[in-house]
Amino acid sequence: MPPIRQKLLGWYDQAARDLPWRHTRDPYAVWVSEVMLQQTRVETVIPYYERFLESFPTPHALAEADEDTVLSRWSGLGYYRRARLLHAGVREVVAQYGGTVPEDEEARRSLPGVGRYTAGAIGSIAFDKEEPIVDGNVTRVLARLLRIRTPVGTSATTNRLWEEAARLVPGERPGDLNQALMELGATVCTPKQPRCESCPVAQECEAFAHGEVDTLPVPRARKAPMEVSLCAVVATRGRGADRKVWLVKGDQALFGGLWSVPMHEGSARGVLTAAGLHARLGSEPVGEVAHVLTHRRLRIDVYRASAARGSESGTRRSFTANDLERVGVSTLTRKLLASALRG
Ligand code: SF4
Repeated sequence: MPPIRQKLLGWYDQAARDLPWRHTRDPYAVWVSEVMLQQTRVETVIPYYERFLESFPTPHALAEADEDTVLSRWSGLGYYRRARLLHAGVREVVAQYGGTVPEDEEARRSLPGVGRYTAGAIGSIAFDKEEPIVDGNVTRVLARLLRIRTPVGTSATTNRLWEEAARLVPGERPGDLNQALMELGATVCTPKQPRCESCPVAQECEAFAHGEVDTLPVPRARKAPMEVSLCAVVATRGRGADRKVWLVKGDQALFGGLWSVPMHEGSARGVLTAAGLHARLGSEPVGEVAHVLTHRRLRIDVYRASAARGSESGTRRSFTANDLERVGVSTLTRKLLASALRG
């Protein structure tokens, strides 16, 4: 066995963190964990993962749930598209494969939301297949270990990283090898102040040997997030515990599948009209909310409107505070409601 592989596995056996998804090889549970871990920290994911699998312990249970229920269990994790794609992918597994996640790589890759990374994670961890994975942690480890000096995110670098990962994975315990690379990136070969002195592969590390640990991986030049000014209207009817707030879904909402406070770039009156609501609109904003998305920095003026009327539909509904606990709403919607309804 090549020394890097052997050292990584040896280190993983004694240093790996005890995480709930490391106690299972159920491909469905591995899939859920991998989707949740994309762009979200391990500590944040743990309680969500456990609750999600309690609510939907099998592919059949998830496939049968409606989207609102699925999103409500995801609420707070962000990147809701991941939840919708996971739901769609699992529904396909139930429809096409009787609820058994397919072992065949091509079949896995053809599922909605399952890209090369997720397919490789399920394949190697659950099915012991020699399939590579490359995520942010693996990218950093390999870029340093092999002194890859081209910017990450370019197709040349991406191809090289997948090739290198594919070179390392064949052999015993491919799933653990992949997890060892990710674990090393998460706990030792960290973006800032990596702990090279306790790294199991420091001897083999080209960046360490050349004193380039701090300059690798080379980041891709980033575009600054676009500043966007929006206007949101928190429209209510009723008072006290009976108070209901109108939310919209679909085209009028910023996050397609989630119930959201109506908002767009125009005036508050325009927002109400587009949402199909009639209401008594306040003349001044009651608050301002800032929110950062991947490529956009939002600055939102929040207006209140009372005595709001409209017809209930699949994309426009009024909710009590209790209803809101049950449906999936984004962190931004929670912020907007808090900003307009406090006091
Ligand atoms: S020696 Fe340092 S830079 Fe190289 S892989 Fe280990 S932690 Fe990362």
